[in-house]
Amino acid sequence: MPNPYADCKILGPYVHNGKKGRLYVKCTQPDGKRHSINYSRYILELAIGRKLSTVEHVHHINKDIHDNRLENLEVLDETTHHKLHVRRLKPHDFTCPMCGGKFTLDGQELNSLLTKRKLFPKQPGPFCDRSCASRAVKRGVTIQSIVDPEYYSTIDSGQGEKE
Ligand SMILES: [Zn+2]
Ligand SMILES: [Zn+2]
Repeated sequence: MPNPYADCKILGPYVHNGKKGRLYVKCTQPDGKRHSINYSRYILELAIGRKLSTVEHVHHINKDIHDNRLENLEVLDETTHHKLHVRRLKPHDFTCPMCGGKFTLDGQELNSLLTKRKLFPKQPGPFCDRSCASRAVKRGVTIQSIVDPEYYSTIDSGQGEKE
């Protein structure tokens, strides 16, 4: 099997500070250029004997991004990969417009709220509880905007980062 990094000097793997502590290796090319490669991507490239293209992602089959055993890695095209990773919303804090009380919707609740809102854009809320909701309807209080719901990043594309 040809080693696609035969002419590079590889150092690592190192733990990435951000990115949930995933591993990467540093690659120094013969011309002195350096870049980092996601470790899972590097492992797979060595195994298949070629570098992956930018639209080829490395997916962790058991969804554990720290499990870089070869049998846990597969190459997927970008589109297929994104479909496999359903985006999960982060919990979101609200202030009830009726009583001023603080409350939090978890990701699932927020997701169903956003889905409902697409169907019924004029539906008021969210409110902290049913009694605030029914008082709001009587008084004609309208919707609270939900600014930039945040998603957990679940994509383990294994793309290398430029240094
Ligand atoms: Zn994946
Ligand atoms: Zn309330």
